[in-house]
Parts: sequence; C-alpha cells; structure tokens
Amino acid sequence: MAVVGIIGGGIGGLAVAWNLVVEGQDSGTIPEIHIFEKNDRFGGNANTKQFDFGKGPGYEDAPLMRWADMGVNDFNTAAYQNIVKVMDQIGFTKENGSYRNLEDSTTYFNTKGHAVTSNAYKDANGADQLDPWWGTAMAPDLYASVTSFMEIGGKDAELPKFHDYTMEQYIQEQSPVHNWVPELGPEVIYPRVNGMYFTSGPLGPRSMPFAAVMHYYKIQEGAGGIPADRNYFVGGADKWIDALVGYMADNMPQITFHTGWDARITRDTASGGYNVSDASGKNGPLAVGSVVLATPADIALRIFTDGLPAKAANIMSQIKYEVAVSVAHTDTRLMPVNRNAWSTYNIVIHEPGSVALKPYTIHYVANRHQNDKASNQFNKFGAPEFFLSINPHIPVSPDKVLKDAETGEPAVANLSHFVFDFDCMAAQHAIEGQQGAQGIYYASGWTHGSGLHTECWSQGEDVAAKLIAALKTGVHEAKAPTKSQGELITSRLARSSGSI
Ligand SMILES: Cc1cc2nc3c(=O)[nH]c(=O)nc-3n(C[C@H](O)[C@H](O)[C@H](O)COP(=O)(O)OP(=O)(O)OC[C@H]3O[C@@H](n4cnc5c(N)ncnc54)[C@H](O)[C@@H]3O)c2cc1C
Repeated sequence: MAVVGIIGGGIGGLAVAWNLVVEGQDSGTIPEIHIFEKNDRFGGNANTKQFDFGKGPGYEDAPLMRWADMGVNDFNTAAYQNIVKVMDQIGFTKENGSYRNLEDSTTYFNTKGHAVTSNAYKDANGADQLDPWWGTAMAPDLYASVTSFMEIGGKDAELPKFHDYTMEQYIQEQSPVHNWVPELGPEVIYPRVNGMYFTSGPLGPRSMPFAAVMHYYKIQEGAGGIPADRNYFVGGADKWIDALVGYMADNMPQITFHTGWDARITRDTASGGYNVSDASGKNGPLAVGSVVLATPADIALRIFTDGLPAKAANIMSQIKYEVAVSVAHTDTRLMPVNRNAWSTYNIVIHEPGSVALKPYTIHYVANRHQNDKASNQFNKFGAPEFFLSINPHIPVSPDKVLKDAETGEPAVANLSHFVFDFDCMAAQHAIEGQQGAQGIYYASGWTHGSGLHTECWSQGEDVAAKLIAALKTGVHEAKAPTKSQGELITSRLARSSGSI
C-alpha cells in the first residue's frame, strides 16, 4: 500500500490528511497516511492559552476560567465555506455553541493613546451600534471614501489589470476616478493594513500588493460586497483543532498521528521513497513513498538532509518570514487612554513619518472579542478585563502578563508568519509547477493566498487530489501550471470568497 508522510500538523497538514481520505474514498485508493508534528499538540498557529482568574465578585463559587487565542482567533463563515462544511460534519457548530459571532468593533489610536476613529457609535435612539468599516467618528467624506474603496477595491482585486499594483499605486490612481479623499490611504487604509499578520517587509503597507491585501479583506472582512459573518471559537481555536483531530482519529483509521516528532527526511535511493526520522532520535525512522511539506517554507527548506530539489528550493527561498510576539495581559497602558474608546480591535497608528509603520501592532480586548450581543452570555464576563497584544508598541509590565493556567508560564507566544508580498505571489504560482516532482508536494499557508484557514484547506484539497491521482497511475509528475499568475489569483480569490 502507498504510504504518504505529511510533515507539519497545523491546519495545512491536517487539511491534506483529511482530503487524502475523502479523495481516496471517492476513487478507491486511500493510502496509509502518517502526519508528523514537532510539538506535543496539533494546530500550529492555532494556539490557545487558559487563564485562572480565581474567585471574585460574580464568580464566588468557582474560579473564573478564561482564555485567549495567541494567533488564529476568528473566521468568517460567509467565506470559509469549506471549513464550515467540515465543522458541520464533525459536529462543531454554532447551534451547539462551538462558535459565536464576535463583536466586530475597531478603534484607531496614536502612540500617545488618543483615539482617532472608532466604529462604535450611538444611533438616533441612543442605542449602541457598530458600523461596518470605520464608522461615524470619521469625517463624512472620508467615511464615504472608505466604504466606496471597500466595495470597489474588493471587486477590482480580482481583475488581472491590478495584480501588479501596490496599495499606494491603486489608491493614488483610483482616487480621482471614484472621488476618494486624500486622507483615505494615510489615515485609514495604510494603518489598517498595518494591523494584519501578513504585512511588513521593508516598506510596509504602502508597498504591499493591492491584490494581496484585498484578498485578505475579502475573505476575512467581507470587502467587495460579500457580507462578513465573523466568529470566534468558544474556548479558543484549540477546541476546533481538538475536535477536528478527534474526529479524524475516530473515523479515519488510515491516518496515524505522530506528535513530538521533529521530522527530518532522507531520500532512500533504493526504493525511490523517503525515510522520515526524528531529530531528537526518539522516534523512527519510518519509510514513506511520497512526502507533503506542510510547514512554513523556511522550515521546509531545512527538513531534507540532502536538500530539497533545486527548483522548489529556489522558489521557497523567496518567501520572507517575520515573527509576531503575542502577549496576554492586563496592562491598560497599552490601550487608548479613553476607556470608552476601547474596541475589540485597537490599532496603533504609528508616528507621522514612520513610513513602514513597523512593526504590525494590534491589541484585542479579549472580553469584547469573546462577546456577542445576540448571546445570553453577553457581558456576563465583563471583568476582569484582559488583553491580547500582538507586537506591543510599549513593553507590557512583567507583573501584568497573564500566566498560562496549565504550565504557570507567562502567556507569551512567538508566531511566525510569511510576508504576502509580490515575491510570495510569484512563488505561489511557481510552486504549482513543482507539485509532485520527486514525489514531494507542498501545502501550508505560504502556498495559497494570505494563508487563512480556508485557504490552507483549499490547498489541502488540491494537493490531495493531485497525490491521489498520482498514486492511481503510480507516477508522480510535476506539471506546468495551467493558469497564468493573474488567473490563479483571480480563481483563488473567487473560490476563497465563496463566489464559486
Ligand atoms: C498572529 C497570527 C494570527 C492569525 N490569525 C488568523 C485567524 O484569525 N484566522 C485565520 O484563518 N488565520 C489566521 N492566521 C493565519 C494562520 O497562520 C493560518 O490560518 C494557519 O494556521 C497556517 O497553518 P499552517 O498549517 O500552514 O502552518 P502552521 O500553523 O505554522 O503549522 C505548521 C506546523 O508544522 C510544525 N512543524 C514545523 N517544523 C516541523 C518539523 N520539522 N517536523 C514536524 N512538524 C513541524 C509546527 O510545529 C506547526 O504545528 C494567523 C496567523 C498569525 C501568525
């Protein structure tokens, strides 16, 4: 029987394993599948920490337990249709309380703590409202420009014509066409883009590819006319990963899950396959016929003891990585000075003249993120308030850092993310032409769009289909991509945003 080794147990690797079984079932060829994860838990960037706040007013009888997602924390059911389908199948549903709508509010504030705009406002009846995008605290003409930009830009991103444009080029060229005010870029869009995990690079948001940014907006936040239905995982993103892995372990006997296995791969010239060993020497080696690399590209480049095939290595070395530092804490000094301006997402606008606006900084009020007015739990856990800061713009006071209830360690995580720049877009296209060469396949976030869960899942579907087809014929063969880079971006955008 064919044996497939998947390296990396984040959503990218799990998606390949799941889809190998589904695809194999359909075609009568399910291989033996081994998934190797370095850590003792699956999920990669889906990383939840639990906190014990002890007993207090309103929770006198039992300690108040809360959580924070250090990385992956939300998803848009309107666009993540492949993920929602899987969630439904495994019984991880909104109806049974596995996920809920989050409070989608945003405040922009400067490094002195002064709020600039917020999308929370009171309507004519004095009721609290949240406006999509950036709300009424903005000058009306700027607000109209933002709304128009989101609608038009979301659609334009699919046009190959704009695939070479930077954010700045697009905004400058299109502003006179659509009557967008000059403040649109500097005061709203660039700071907003700066709050995304895949931004950065030497010149920051202005030089980001327009299509890449809109890709994210469209899938995650509903630009281009598709409404956003944003949700958080009740109990944290780990719960979703645990439910997925639990279901697969119970229902997909073809998959063997290996944790604590820091995989290294050696080519076995006699068999034409590979041996997967564990760098710690505790496990393996295990012989596999083909390999799926589902780790970040910079790690994958070092997994083969004698190096990856040169073409793939050249492509992957174009992907840049940065590390986001996530800290869960109770330090209010990092928040806007006006307590009433706190939103779910609080984004720091860097000093004027700070061209690259580095590093990307965002602060979540965890109590608001894990909140939803439609829920009977709304505001039931208002206190104690705590925050999740990614790349804090001032150091968090050490005594305010929360401790992980399981380990007692400070709740700090370093999460690697690729920069979704023009090189990355070119690499995503080029790697399609290397899928299957020497029996090696490529999954993980860097291979597909901005690497959101739904995109990792789509990549898992595609890689599994290619691998199963190869196993049927007995030949792993790399084929030049049938789509141009522009067509690939367009078709992926349409697929991930649920348009096809
Ligand atoms: C701060 C942050 C916030 C994010 N928020 C969201 C969000 O809210 N929603 C969303 O959809 N996406 C979000 N993302 C994107 C997210 O990264 C992807 O959705 C997804 O988690 C990427 O999955 P992956 O499997 O490609 O990679 P990873 O999650 O990085 O998983 C790779 C796995 O490979 C393992 N590994 C590495 N080396 C080896 C080895 N030698 N042997 C065996 N295993 C190895 C790692 O331990 C890891 O578990 C966020 C990303 C970041 C950085």
